[in-house]
Amino acid sequence: MKVCYHPGYVIPLPEGHRFPMPKFGLLRAILRDEGLVRDADVHEPEPATWGDLRRVHDEAWLGDLAHGTLSREAERRLGLPWSEALLRRSRLAVQGTVDAVELALEHGIAANLAGGTHHAFAGHGEGFCVFNDVAVAIRVARARGRITRAAVIDLDVHQGNGTAALFADDPDTFTFSMHARRCFPFRKQTSSLDVALEDGADDLTYLGALAAHLPGVLERARPDLVVYIAGVDPVAGDRLGRLALSRAGLHARERAVLDALRAHGVPVALTVGGGYQSTPRATAELHAVAHRVAAGHANVVRSRGARSRAGG
Ligand SMILES: [Zn+2]
Repeated sequence: MKVCYHPGYVIPLPEGHRFPMPKFGLLRAILRDEGLVRDADVHEPEPATWGDLRRVHDEAWLGDLAHGTLSREAERRLGLPWSEALLRRSRLAVQGTVDAVELALEHGIAANLAGGTHHAFAGHGEGFCVFNDVAVAIRVARARGRITRAAVIDLDVHQGNGTAALFADDPDTFTFSMHARRCFPFRKQTSSLDVALEDGADDLTYLGALAAHLPGVLERARPDLVVYIAGVDPVAGDRLGRLALSRAGLHARERAVLDALRAHGVPVALTVGGGYQSTPRATAELHAVAHRVAAGHANVVRSRGARSRAGG
């Protein structure tokens, strides 16, 4: 599978900051060490252009980010201190999703090893999300004439409020968010479909809800492309989540999503989303699960191809 990654995804943050910045580099290392991603399959994005960012974001927000003139309130809401490095990182991560979408349309599946920053609105950022990479990527793909209909499958434990708001008036983009009712954001937006789970939801509840809703999502959305926000913060022990999905449950979740998309023949771009285990390494290990499942898929496709060739 082709993956988008840039060393600039990882930047220094003030000591003790709760955003687990190292997880992106650790995920890249795990995928390399396990042989899941060959160096030749890693694509390094450029920073997203301001023109593409304008497809989603207001001039005032972009201006404040470009010039470092965020108000204290805007910075507090964002949850990250502004820096040149943060701006560059955020632009790289957006382009990673733009490029992952393009690669997914070409190869059926691709991933960005960052992104899924679903709390970013047109005119402000919040919850560690500067830009809404998913919205930019969908609008770019549409502007290029690559897709008409899109769906966002957002299984991060926090509601995809920015994405919901950005696509509220877009009948060609279906937004599905399955999240914890009592988690941030405390004032939810309205997605095309919201499924709110109660605290402590375990594998049975979580996977049952997914199985109940995913087929309907794909039927209603009829997407030419899915962007999947594979946040791992529904997993038990997450410091910002309130659910109790097990590691095996996470594996089952990724299989359920990727199986369904393959069955429907829908290209999928994976993004990382949130994850806040006790260490960045533990979090990165969980993010790698989706890649193991996706690699299994690729092997099945390849061996099927080999069999059919052998069979003439
Ligand atoms: Zn989250």
